[in-house]
Amino acid sequence: MSTEAPIVIVGTGLSGYTLAKEIRKQDENASIVMVTADDGFSYSKPMLSTGFTKGKEADELAQGSAETMAEQLNLELRAYTTVTGIDPDAHELVLGDERLAYGKLVLAWGADVIRLSIKGDGQEHVFSINDLMDYRAFRRALQGRKKVAIMGAGLIGCEFANDLRNGDYEVDVIAPSDALMPGLLPPPAAEAVRSGLEELGVRFHLETVVDHIATRGDGVRLTLANGEKLDADLVISAVGLRSRTELAAAAGLETNRGIVVNRALETSVPDVYALGDCAEVDGHVLLYVMPLMACARALAKTLTGERTEVRYGTMPVMVKTPCCPTAVCPPPPGASGSWHVEADGQDVRALFKADSGEVLGFAVTGRFAVEKQALSKEVPPIHP
Ligand SMILES: Cc1cc2nc3c(=O)[nH]c(=O)nc-3n(C[C@H](O)[C@H](O)[C@H](O)COP(=O)(O)OP(=O)(O)OC[C@H]3O[C@@H](n4cnc5c(N)ncnc54)[C@H](O)[C@@H]3O)c2cc1C
Repeated sequence: MSTEAPIVIVGTGLSGYTLAKEIRKQDENASIVMVTADDGFSYSKPMLSTGFTKGKEADELAQGSAETMAEQLNLELRAYTTVTGIDPDAHELVLGDERLAYGKLVLAWGADVIRLSIKGDGQEHVFSINDLMDYRAFRRALQGRKKVAIMGAGLIGCEFANDLRNGDYEVDVIAPSDALMPGLLPPPAAEAVRSGLEELGVRFHLETVVDHIATRGDGVRLTLANGEKLDADLVISAVGLRSRTELAAAAGLETNRGIVVNRALETSVPDVYALGDCAEVDGHVLLYVMPLMACARALAKTLTGERTEVRYGTMPVMVKTPCCPTAVCPPPPGASGSWHVEADGQDVRALFKADSGEVLGFAVTGRFAVEKQALSKEVPPIHP
């Protein structure tokens, strides 16, 4: 390894590890240090909502420990180490009382879960699941329990609902919207997924919210705004994520919905880059795997000497609700056009077409879900 200040990557999620792997493809000897607040285990986050369906315990979803990854990638990895600040002028990261010099700094530190402040003494029964450590804690608490209430009917809430039913748990989903995955799925596709989940036994309580969570015996009693009362052993809070921007903003980096970067993943401050759930790339905050992989490939080239801009292609999202397989590629925000829907029960093909007839987005469920690949070829890429 060279004696120059290293490339420092903050975060060992999919963004951090994918970037490190991509750098190693370009340069076997670049000096890399990874810093992470968690235990540094490598795992695929999308698998967290498939544990019961795939019959896997939390530990079986882990792919490699921090030590294994450090050795495989030939780098220094500092686990359980929280970054508390960035000093761009000194080219240093602040780690509590310590400082760590960087040549290039990459922020891959993800997003925070949004926690609602709900009244009541039952908060210790409420779990947010956004990493493997969260999932381990949830699975431990779930042992011997039967009933789970999920707050939120977005992609993650719906996936956990399906997975927990596959594990034979009773599931209630509470959400303020009148449909599932609003903003992601058009109504007919959302209705198909809801019908699939209901057939599986999931109970929905839509157009209301949880007002109060009180301890009751070993579990909790939820009081909803519509007056309904539900008993549960555990609660999952899946009400959304917010890109981590605070430390970046405090260090003078431009932030908006995420840490603002251009297509070369450069922040507004020299030698500092960002990708993954924390980044707003050329105006896009896309909290999915495909965009971060594309970013990691481009950034690895930039960091090893060939400045490269990311190009986002068409990026469909698979919703892991096996009771009603679903794929969606939302049209660009503000696109003009309308949905054209063909529906037969839980089989829905919804195409968002411009007036010219061009397909700008789609949502397919049930037997039409297999058309995802063919339709993806029709939709224009995000970056032409
Ligand atoms: C249940 C679930 C299912 C999903 N399913 C899909 C799917 O099917 N398809 C899809 O495309 N996407 C899916 N996603 C989204 C996808 O998994 C994420 O977009 C992606 O994993 C984000 O990776 P990341 O590395 O950017 O962030 P993270 O995985 O959150 O990693 C952030 C890292 O930064 C570290 N960190 C944070 N703050 C600090 C600090 N101050 N100091 C040091 N370290 C810090 C953390 O410890 C962690 O190592 C899913 C997400 C969830 C929660």
